[in-house]
Amino acid sequence: MKPEDFKILQQELDLNNPNLGDLQLQKLKKQLIYCYDNSPYYKNKFDAAGVNPHQFIALKDLENYPTFDKYEERESQAQSLKAHDHPLGMHLTCDIKSVNRISASSGTTGTPSFQGHTAFDRSIMFKNFARLAKITGLEKGEKVMMAGVMSMWVAGIPTIDCLMEYGANVIPIGGLVGAQKVVEMMTFTRPDVLVCTPSYARVIIKKAKTEMNVDLTKIGVRAISVYGEPGGSVPEIVKEISDGFGGAGVYDMGGGTGCLNPIFTSCEAQSGMHFIAPDHAYLELYDRATKTVLPMVDGAEGELVYTALERECGPLVRFMDGDKVRITLKPCSCGLPGMRIAILGRVDDMLLIKGVNVFPSAIRDVILGFEGEATGNIRIIKHSDAPVIDPPLKIKVECVGNPSPTQKAALKESIEQKIKRQLRFKAALTMFSEGDLTIEYGATGKMKLIEMV
Ligand SMILES: [Zn+2]
Repeated sequence: MKPEDFKILQQELDLNNPNLGDLQLQKLKKQLIYCYDNSPYYKNKFDAAGVNPHQFIALKDLENYPTFDKYEERESQAQSLKAHDHPLGMHLTCDIKSVNRISASSGTTGTPSFQGHTAFDRSIMFKNFARLAKITGLEKGEKVMMAGVMSMWVAGIPTIDCLMEYGANVIPIGGLVGAQKVVEMMTFTRPDVLVCTPSYARVIIKKAKTEMNVDLTKIGVRAISVYGEPGGSVPEIVKEISDGFGGAGVYDMGGGTGCLNPIFTSCEAQSGMHFIAPDHAYLELYDRATKTVLPMVDGAEGELVYTALERECGPLVRFMDGDKVRITLKPCSCGLPGMRIAILGRVDDMLLIKGVNVFPSAIRDVILGFEGEATGNIRIIKHSDAPVIDPPLKIKVECVGNPSPTQKAALKESIEQKIKRQLRFKAALTMFSEGDLTIEYGATGKMKLIEMV
């Protein structure tokens, strides 16, 4: 990071800076008033909860405001489609004619949710992205290959928009052309940076090595920015991706629904993701069990509640996205102050096995510990949408190479024991040789860890 950039970021990210607190209060109040005055939906919602943003005096007052969740969002969007011919929800706060782009995010239920952006909203995204770029060392003019799913999904075209505004030289190939084509185009274009999901980065590495005889360590990729899956913060996966590209830096970027993303990125220290937008998004930590807002102290765990600041198009006030995180407030070894998060999992994905809460990503982490024996490609078998599972939990596991039946049985036994010891539930594994368990992706290019049968 350039010293002058570091200095600016130091101020922008410092949550102890009293000016930041004042700025957040001012912007939050303005955002709430904007929603109240420009959307009958919000006016009714706030009135029903007995809150009036014109009387908002302290950040803590936000705790009295009603939360928003994806079910309410979908309902609001279904209504606006009927009443106003657009899917941006009854909570739309601006003139539909001023909307500049519609993006979508996938839902676990299969119904997408939609976000609109005005030109001003996009300008805030550009500011957030520029901070991410500085932390990840992205220089103007560097060649950035976008190999994620390049579409209306939030991480697709919006990322390209940010990259171009920042001044990167974008190579928008998109992951849907297939890993082979991506590798081929890498040899022709020599990108400095690659953007994709962590699972796709692994597929690219494998494809190049085993089927194409292309040495990706010689391509000159300096950094890989990954998103959308927990792998970007899992040390084993980060190392594998870094090694696959000859020691390139791996950065995990993230966002929060309704915010002007990206709002998180990891740095070279790889110790959680820095919250890079404290002046553009207000975060709360929530405990579903007690229905209370938790203090943002070092080590605290809870669900993040997101409120974008300064958003013009349909802000989501207090959106509960279901991201369970652990907060770190200790200074990072990179020197940047502020808050970092580690994503523990999504509340929606959580499994409940004999009273034990388990995230699929935690199961995968245990299996990734068997480096050189298991690839980390797994599939958890479920029979219904319900989180409650009767043990044993059935899991398909891919081995490295093609071990003998005896070796497979031994590995199955070791992993099952480790799961029992570490995660406290009984698993029943089925072992597959490498390549026999195909990786499946959702519409947004995220790897699926759950298989419904
Ligand atoms: Zn750092």
